[in-house]
Amino acid sequence: MRTVYACIFTVFIAALIVCAVKSRRSLNPIADSVRRLIIGVLIPVVGNYLLIVPGPKLVSDIGRYVYFIGMVICVYRVLRFTMDYCNIEWKNKLLKYTVWGFIAVDGIQLLLNIFTHHTFSVEKTMVDGYAYYLLVPHWGQSLHRVIVYGIFFASLGIIIVKLIKSPRIYKERYSTMTAAMVISCLVESYYIFSRKPIDLSMLAFAIYAFMVYYFALYYRPMRLLDRMLAGIASEMNESLFFYDLEGKCIWANEPAVRLTGVEQSRYEETTSKLLRIFGEDVTAVDDDSTHKKDITVEEEERYYTLERRVLYDDKDRLTGSFLRIRDDTDEQKRIRREFYNATHDRLTGLYTSEYLNELIWNRINDDNRRSYYVIYMNISEFKIVNDVYGMEYGDLVLKNIAERIKKDAGRSWLYGRIGGDSFGIMMPSEDFDRDIADKALSELVVGEGSKAHKIVMHMGIYETTRFDSDVAVMFDRAHLALNSIKGDYNVHIAFYDEKIRNGILKENMITSQLQEAIEQRHIMPYLQPIVDPNRNVVGAEALTRWTHPTEGILSPAVFIPVLERNGLIADVDNHIWRCACEVLKRWQDQGIDMFISINISPKDFYFMDVPFELERLVEEYGIKAEKLRVELTETVMINNSDMRIKDIERLRDAGFIVEMDDFGSGFSSLNLLQDMPVDVLKIDMVFLRNTDDNPKAGKIIYNIIAMAKDLDLVPLTEGVESEYQYQQLVRMGCKLFQGNHFSKPVTIEEFEEEFI
Ligand code: C2E
Ligand code: MG
Ligand code: MG
Repeated sequence: MRTVYACIFTVFIAALIVCAVKSRRSLNPIADSVRRLIIGVLIPVVGNYLLIVPGPKLVSDIGRYVYFIGMVICVYRVLRFTMDYCNIEWKNKLLKYTVWGFIAVDGIQLLLNIFTHHTFSVEKTMVDGYAYYLLVPHWGQSLHRVIVYGIFFASLGIIIVKLIKSPRIYKERYSTMTAAMVISCLVESYYIFSRKPIDLSMLAFAIYAFMVYYFALYYRPMRLLDRMLAGIASEMNESLFFYDLEGKCIWANEPAVRLTGVEQSRYEETTSKLLRIFGEDVTAVDDDSTHKKDITVEEEERYYTLERRVLYDDKDRLTGSFLRIRDDTDEQKRIRREFYNATHDRLTGLYTSEYLNELIWNRINDDNRRSYYVIYMNISEFKIVNDVYGMEYGDLVLKNIAERIKKDAGRSWLYGRIGGDSFGIMMPSEDFDRDIADKALSELVVGEGSKAHKIVMHMGIYETTRFDSDVAVMFDRAHLALNSIKGDYNVHIAFYDEKIRNGILKENMITSQLQEAIEQRHIMPYLQPIVDPNRNVVGAEALTRWTHPTEGILSPAVFIPVLERNGLIADVDNHIWRCACEVLKRWQDQGIDMFISINISPKDFYFMDVPFELERLVEEYGIKAEKLRVELTETVMINNSDMRIKDIERLRDAGFIVEMDDFGSGFSSLNLLQDMPVDVLKIDMVFLRNTDDNPKAGKIIYNIIAMAKDLDLVPLTEGVESEYQYQQLVRMGCKLFQGNHFSKPVTIEEFEEEFI
C-alpha cells in the first residue's frame, strides 16, 4: 500500500514540477504568483512523500519537519496567490507583519520541537510490514494548526467575499477558485479527522495547486466570454441574428428583436418577420455576402445594409451563420441632406449653378446626338425691385419665378438658379415653343393685390452642337444672346446666332488689335468744326476714328462700347487727348485761337484720375487749359456722383471748360443740371429731327436755350443738318453750332486745310 502511495506522490511531485516550470514560461501576469504557489505546495508534498516512503527514522524525521515548515510556506503562498488573483494589496503594514509574525512564531516553535518535543513526537507502527512513524500531537501542534488554518481560511474568506461582491459575469472566475479551495479543504479535513495511519493530506494541496494552475493560467472562462460577447452584441446598434446549421435562428440581440417585433426568446419567428419586412428571404446563406436595401416602412424610406456570414470552426467545419443588419437610415438621411444642401439653392430650392452644369454635362454626354437648348434667363432691373420694394420682396420674386419654372418644366428639363437674378434651363429643343415662352415672359406678374408687380424677363438661348465641351461656355453664349436684347421691353427672347457670334469675334478682334492700332496711329481723332452765329469756325470736337487695314474706317459706336466693357477705353481716350493736345500746341504756335473738345467716358474715372491726367497733359504740351474743352455725358453721374462733382470742380478750377454732352437724350437731364457744375450745354439735336414741321419741338429747343442762358450756360446745338435749322437756332439765341451742315468730322489735315 505504501508503495502505491509513494508512486502516487512521485507522480504528483513530477506533475507539480512540470507545472512550476511551465508557469515560469507563461506570460500571464499571474503566472509568477502561480509558480510560487506550486513551489510552496511542492515543499510539504515532498515532506509528506519522505514520511511515507519506507526508510530509516531519520528520513521520516526530516520529512516531518519539511512537511510542517513547508505547510507554513504553502499557506502563505496560498494567501499571496489569492490576494494577487483578487487584485488586492495588504490593507496596512501591520496586517502584513502580523501574518509574517505568526509564520515566524510557527517556524521557530516547529524547529524548537527537535529539542522540546512540545509540538509532536512520533510513534512507530508497522504498515505493510514496514516501520511507519505515526505522529503524536502535543500542544504546539494546536498552535501550528491555528496559524496554518487561520491563514488558509483567511484566503478562503477573501475569495468568497470577492465571489459575492463581483458582477455576475465575473462570478465564474472566483467560483472556480473557491471550489478549488473548498475541495482541497474537504480532502484535508477527511485525512485529519479520519486519523488514517498514513497522512495523505498534502495530496489535497497538490490537487488545489493543479486546479489553480489550470484555472488561473489556461482555463478561459467561456461563460464569462459568452456573456461578454452577448452583452456586447446586445448593446450594438446593429441587429444580429445567429443561425444553426438548419438555418433556424438560435439567438438574436436586442435591436434584432426590436426590428422584427418578435417576443423575447422567440427567435425562430424572426425569419418569417424578416421575409415580410424585406420582401425576400434575407436569412438564406450560401456564402458570405453584403447588400444594401431600401425599403419603405410606414411611408418612411429606410435604408439597411445586410451582411450575411457563414461561420466555420477551427477545423473548417460549417457551424452556422449569422446575419447582421445595420440601419443606415440616419446616416443616409444625413448624407442626402448634405448633398441636397450642396446642390440646391437655399432660397428657391432649385439646383445650384455648379450642380446644374454637372447634370447638363452628363445629359449631353449620355445623348449627344439630340439637340438641346441651353437657356439663360434674367430679370430686368432686379436691382430696382430690391431697392424699391426691399430684399424680402426681391426674395419673393425669385421664389415665385422658381415656382413658375418648376410648374412649366417638362419632365426632361433641367433647371436651376445660376446667379442672383438669373436662372438656367436646359430642354430638348423640340420642347421649346417660342410663342408660349414669349407669352410667359411678357405676362409675368409676381405678388398679389396691391403688391402685384409686373416682372420683365429676358431669355438668351444657345442651341447645343456636337462640338460643345463646356457647359459654362454654353451659358455664357446664352447670356450674350440675352445681352443683345437687354433693356428691350418688347423682345424677350434672343438666340445665340451668327450675328452674336460675329459680334463676339469682332469684340475679340478689337480687344486684341487695339494696342497696335494706337501705336500705329490707326486710331486717330477726326475733327468736326464748331461755328458761332457768324459762321466762323471757333473750335472742333475730336471724334475718334479707327482706320482698320481690312475693315475700313470704324466708327466709335462699333468699338467704344466694347472698350468700355473691358476697360481699354482709358487707353484710347488718353491717346486721343494727347493727339488733341498736339494739334492745340501746333495751333498755339501758329497763333490760331481755336479750341478742341474731347470726349470723356464715365469709365475713364475708374481707371485714372481724369483731372490730374488732363492737367498733366496741358502742362506737358504747354497749352492753355481753356483750349482743351471737356465733354461729359450725364451718365458720368450715375455712380459715385459726389466724387464726380468734385472731379468736375477740379477741372474747372484748373481752367478747363466743361460741357454737358448729349443734353436731352438722357432721362434725368434737368435734374442733373442742378448738380453738375458745367459751362456749356451741348443740346442733342435728336429733338430737332422734326423741328422743321413740328412747332412743339421748336418750342422745347427754344426754352432749353433760354434756360441755359438763364443758368449762365453757353448753349451749343449739335447735329445741325440744315441751313433752316441753323437760322432758327441763331434766332433762338444759340451761341455755338456743330453738325454735318457745316462739315462732317474730317481728318486733322483736312480740317487744317479747310478751316484754318
Ligand atoms: P458725341 O460726342 O455726341 O458726338 C457727336 C456724334 O454726332 C458724332 O458721332 C458725330 O459724327 C455725330 N454727328 C455730328 N453731326 C451730325 C449730324 O449733323 N447729324 C448726325 N446724325 N450725326 C452727327 P460719332 O463720331 O459716331 O461719335 C459717337 C459718339 O462716340 C460720340 O457722341 C461720343 O459720345 C463717342 N465718342 C467719339 N469719340 C470719342 C472718344 O474719343 N472718346 C470717347 N470716350 N467717346 C467718344
Ligand atoms: Mg461729344
Ligand atoms: Mg453729343
